[in-house]
Amino acid sequence: MTPGRPVPPPLAKPLPDLGARDEVADGPRLAAAYGATASDSGLVPLTVARRAPKEDDVEIAVEFCGLCHSDVHATRGEWGHQNYPLVPGHEIVGRVSRVGSAVDDFTPGELVGVGCLVDSCRDCDSCLDGLEQYCENGMTGTYGSKDRRNGDAITQGGYATSVVVDRRYVLHVPESLDPAAAAPLLCAGVTTYSPLRHFDVEDGDVVGVIGLGGLGHMAVKLAKAMGAEVKVFTTSESKIAAAREIGADEVILSRDEAAMDAANRSIDVIIDTVAAPHDLNPYFRTLRVDGALFQLGLPSEDMPPVNPGALIRRRIAYAGSLIGGIAETQEMLDFCAEHGVTSDVEVVRADQLNEAYNRMVAGDVKYRFVLDTSTLGTPSERADA
Ligand code: NAP
Ligand code: ZN
Ligand code: ZN
Repeated sequence: MTPGRPVPPPLAKPLPDLGARDEVADGPRLAAAYGATASDSGLVPLTVARRAPKEDDVEIAVEFCGLCHSDVHATRGEWGHQNYPLVPGHEIVGRVSRVGSAVDDFTPGELVGVGCLVDSCRDCDSCLDGLEQYCENGMTGTYGSKDRRNGDAITQGGYATSVVVDRRYVLHVPESLDPAAAAPLLCAGVTTYSPLRHFDVEDGDVVGVIGLGGLGHMAVKLAKAMGAEVKVFTTSESKIAAAREIGADEVILSRDEAAMDAANRSIDVIIDTVAAPHDLNPYFRTLRVDGALFQLGLPSEDMPPVNPGALIRRRIAYAGSLIGGIAETQEMLDFCAEHGVTSDVEVVRADQLNEAYNRMVAGDVKYRFVLDTSTLGTPSERADA
């Protein structure tokens, strides 16, 4: 795969369907995929060549992949330079189809998941501490990253019929979880679980959640499962009733100044999931002394300035947090199985992906779109990614 090379002509003869596994028993496989060829291309059908499993690799037949707002930011080039073609997708759930010779912790047929990272240096303090997402030499993202162990290849994500990932970065998905509803746990789930755990949220704590989208609705469910009281801040009047249905104890329309004032000094920790620039100062006022606000959304434009006085007067911590490490992701999946927590999903076909992106940007999703990869078709007669 060479990023930026011209799109090749259609292939002369159809390539094997991934379902016909015996035809290519030991070699690399082609995956049908959807991705972007430029920042303004939208998502189009592509083909990805997946490597034959090396000794530590797990090959996964992808069943579902969640659509994260980060996929929108990345494919549309909103975070700066991007390698194209780009197949997004880092909320992957599927079944193991082949394993490398040294893999003894995964077996064909097992339900597994892959999240936002597929490799890291494995040697720095962060990696050794199980914080691979903060790898000092840069984690390898599931898509759009240089694959540090595979020549010059750029990683390609889960809007595809298969992926091949080193076993150290593959998760066991409990069979009790519905595979489509479990897919968003691999990013939205762990990204909200990690700061809640870092803050040691427990019975009796009050958690605020800003923005009721993919991340936000998982934050509500996870905080409730940890025993917290949850207050949701939303810009969407239409989500007030729905927020209560998924467990919110209180829903505050963020443009309602009286309601914001009434929430003054009532919250211990806020999980902010908004994908666009917004003023944080009104939210700091809702925190108690020693409260914290974790910003998870990464808007492409600058945020309004933070007022230091608001932080100083109540010893408030303003923090960021990036996804979660591999061990923590497994812990989160097991926690979700134990507490019956999954995502509320709307399953979409491949030909609905572009519409789903537009609806996500408009805030019109309850609460995560998930691609059914059986609708991707076969890899024949497509451009390469
Ligand atoms: P999403 O499903 O689109 O939800 C974002 C929510 O933010 C919306 O549903 C909306 O909720 C609220 N919002 C308020 N004003 C908005 C505006 N002007 N534009 C867009 N949203 C607005 O997105 P997501 O997948 O949860 O991701 C949220 C953000 O987190 C993105 O920036 C994403 O890149 C980032 N992210 C970060 C990490 C990390 O590791 N830190 C991981 C994954 C994603 P209401 O209607 O309730 O107001
Ligand atoms: Zn994500
Ligand atoms: Zn490292």
